Amino acid sequence: MKRNFLPFHIPFIDEDEIKAVAETLRSGWLTTGPKAQQFERAFAEYVGARHAVAVSSCTAALHLALDAVGLQAGDEVLTTPFTFAATAEAILYFGAKPVFVDIRRDTFNMDSEQLGAKITPKARAVLPVHYAGQPCQAEQILEIARHYGLKVVEDAAHALPAKRRFGNGNWKSVGTIGDLTCFSFYATKTITTGEGGMVTTEDDEYAGRIRVMRLHGINYDAWKRYASEGSWYYEINAPGYKYNMSDVLATLGIHQLMKCDWFYEVRKRYAAAYTSAFSELEGVIPPYEDPNSQHAWHLYVILLNLEALRIDRNQFVNELKSLNIGTSVHFIPLHLHPYYRSAFGYERGDFPNAEWVYDRCLSLPLYPKMAEEDVWYVIEAVRDMVKRHKR
Ligand SMILES: *Cc1c(COP(=O)(O)O)cnc(C)c1O
Repeated sequence: MKRNFLPFHIPFIDEDEIKAVAETLRSGWLTTGPKAQQFERAFAEYVGARHAVAVSSCTAALHLALDAVGLQAGDEVLTTPFTFAATAEAILYFGAKPVFVDIRRDTFNMDSEQLGAKITPKARAVLPVHYAGQPCQAEQILEIARHYGLKVVEDAAHALPAKRRFGNGNWKSVGTIGDLTCFSFYATKTITTGEGGMVTTEDDEYAGRIRVMRLHGINYDAWKRYASEGSWYYEINAPGYKYNMSDVLATLGIHQLMKCDWFYEVRKRYAAAYTSAFSELEGVIPPYEDPNSQHAWHLYVILLNLEALRIDRNQFVNELKSLNIGTSVHFIPLHLHPYYRSAFGYERGDFPNAEWVYDRCLSLPLYPKMAEEDVWYVIEAVRDMVKRHKR
């Protein structure tokens, strides 16, 4: 039974988004303006954060967050090798050094037990990733960071909406945990503006710095102090960046955010269907769910039990493709890429857990644009392949 190709991801864009974007286009205001402000307010309320600052991408958000905590050349930032290019790249923008801490084999998040040993006097911040949308050990990481006087900037590109339970039993939304949290609205993420990002923080100074730095370091409020000179007056306070979000994209964001809970419910239901089917399969290990985390289910990542199969991950991915199922691999550990090998001398063996997961992992399609029967098609295909390739 072959069917049409099921892409790894399709964004969910409704007529209401299209209509709203058309209205913004007709309004005459295309750059950052009232819609961006509205999106920021709605987002801050949604995650329960004091401030939300809209920017052009999560990469920009990470850059601005690290600027806000005062990262300097020569500093070190502790992060995970099991992530996308952007996480460590933002550190390198400053001439600072990403110091990798290996991941856990269950959640694929930074192993907080390995963090302390990697902290040197040059360390300035910790930058954990909530991999696949499952929050990291935020409480332990915060405790260690506070002990050493480090700031915590979270890469929450996958983690909307996600929560973490703390020792006192309270659940905290991702976006309200560390010093600054960075979200992505890239086309494949849980809500999308095509390209876009957001920084949340409880700190007024960080928020103020980011608002200025996202647009050329210009302080537009300066004109208030020079009222007689009119609203054309501004002051450049620092060499900033061009990282603002346009009202066209913010309009998309406002409408996507309204559907965020519904998107999440659908992904959660599909993930549960996958997990219950794969739990009985010897060749496949479904994702571990940390009872202290609410998983956003941005990605559904399975591990292959290579000892039980006669094919490897790459062959598995190729065969699924021949069955018209798009998959992906998240991620090639950063230390295995040519740049990191040559700049820092990394090689295979340096982060054994990240490598172990990388050799076995693949991400299956998981998005609300999929139909229930698509989920069953994937389940049947995986089941059938595992049977055929059993050792
Ligand atoms: C997608 C992604 C980013 C970058 O997001 P952009 O909005 O594309 O800049 C950063 N970190 C992780 C883990 C991601 O998956």
